[in-house]
Amino acid sequence: MPARRTIGVDLGGTKLLAGAVDPELAVHYSAQRAVAGLDQAGLIEIAVDAVLEAREAADGEVEAVGFGIPCLIDRRTGTAVVAVNLPLADIAFADVMAERLGLPVFVDNDGNVAALAEHRAGAAQGASDVVVLTIGTGIGGGLILGGLPYRGAIGSGAELGHMVIDMDGPRCQGNCPNRGCIEALASGTALIREAHRLASERPDSSLADALAQGHELVGALVTELAHDGDAAAIEVIELIGARLGVAIANLVNIFNPQVVVLGGGVLAAGELVLGPARAVVAQRALPPSRDTVEIVPARFGFEAGMVGAAALAYDGLAGRPGAR
Ligand code: ADP
Ligand code: MG
Ligand code: ZN
Repeated sequence: MPARRTIGVDLGGTKLLAGAVDPELAVHYSAQRAVAGLDQAGLIEIAVDAVLEAREAADGEVEAVGFGIPCLIDRRTGTAVVAVNLPLADIAFADVMAERLGLPVFVDNDGNVAALAEHRAGAAQGASDVVVLTIGTGIGGGLILGGLPYRGAIGSGAELGHMVIDMDGPRCQGNCPNRGCIEALASGTALIREAHRLASERPDSSLADALAQGHELVGALVTELAHDGDAAAIEVIELIGARLGVAIANLVNIFNPQVVVLGGGVLAAGELVLGPARAVVAQRALPPSRDTVEIVPARFGFEAGMVGAAALAYDGLAGRPGAR
């Protein structure tokens, strides 16, 4: 018998990952694509292309495809209603992809599938109450409550990235009408904005130097400069960590989770971002929840969404509730 595989696809505002994954959730192959600037048709084409690449290299029989998409989903109709950071709207995403791929397709929100992976086999395994934040182009959220994924009444809940931490804060990005959301203040996009601000405020910093030399101030460069000891770069990442901490303190007070798992591209900064987040939670959240909660990086790292999407596909094949 050929080895079983599903393909998990994590679609983000910056990149798409498609991985061939076995039933134990080990990754056998993954394909990556940049998605910036694509329209809806382009996004669908690139997703199909990446899935075909992963299927070819899967080293087994691909039975289904799972997608984690950064969209508000209406489970009554199976429609991806809107994405904050991508031009995806009012599309029966699972039906469209199933038609294109000729395979069963299951779809959920990207934050929800990251939570599924971390709860099933990662940093939150065995926990009953879990909060997951994926810090990337935007901020995705996922909740496990009482051992089960929590998606709200029609499936569009757990949008933790749009928790407001400053009522009069900056306009949120993309299609979010709010202001002062953590997505506006502590996402990878916000990190880049703060890096530009500090580079101009501190002309003597390595940050300013890198910009002057024509480097693009992306998150990875800011982290590298921070690791090299540049005070301005460290301040940028600490600010993002502290803002995340304010949001996590709210979540700790509301949900009393055993564990808060942080994933997404920005978590490549590791302790530089986690340390300040933990310190703010210790200062601001209420006892006794704040004293028991663990704030940890995703075990599946930047692949949490991809692995979770593959797990969603296995759940869907097994007819388990939650998948669609
Ligand atoms: P997506 O939003 O497509 O899911 P990612 O989770 O990879 O993508 O997040 C992309 C964001 O993460 C970008 O804003 C990028 O600048 C930031 N980022 C990527 N690598 C790092 C890093 N090493 N340190 C800090 N931020 C990073
Ligand atoms: Mg993502
Ligand atoms: Zn928002």
